[in-house]
Amino acid sequence: MSLLETAALTLVSPALLAGDSNPAANPCLDCGACCSHFRVSFYIGELAGENGGHVPLELVTQISPLRACMKGTEMGAGRCVALRGQLGRPGIHCAIYENRPTPCREFDIWQPDGSPNPDCQRLRLALGLAPVPPRPDAENDPQGPSHPNQPDQPAAA
Ligand code: SF4
Ligand code: SF4
Repeated sequence: MSLLETAALTLVSPALLAGDSNPAANPCLDCGACCSHFRVSFYIGELAGENGGHVPLELVTQISPLRACMKGTEMGAGRCVALRGQLGRPGIHCAIYENRPTPCREFDIWQPDGSPNPDCQRLRLALGLAPVPPRPDAENDPQGPSHPNQPDQPAAA
């Protein structure tokens, strides 16, 4: 499923917020829209505990026997409890970036061909933010980095 499907179905998101500290290089760092829009739900096996998961228990709501959801996003259109900072402003970030759930990790600001995720464009427009540009390396590497906000990725998004 596409991430946003996940978003929709599981609703998601938030991929973001870490890595390069320059919003010009990493558009997510002055955005945060996806973390305040989708319902971010995932399999309970991702929860911290004996099962080897990592998402902090105190930040989630169990929504079914096998699914959990980041608090604040249960109904969609709500802000994730782990999101820090002001939406659409530099400095916004995920407080549990290293331990964020799968939907957040899979939501990609760019599509495989390097073009911007249409959902990012839509959500950013609603915040009055500039649209995301094509991935910088898109012309040279259509399948390039998966997500600019991942700490192990070079400055991009
Ligand atoms: S640019 Fe897209 S992925 Fe990044 S924070 Fe905004 S909506 Fe989320
Ligand atoms: S866990 Fe982090 S990346 Fe995921 S929705 Fe919440 S603030 Fe965004």
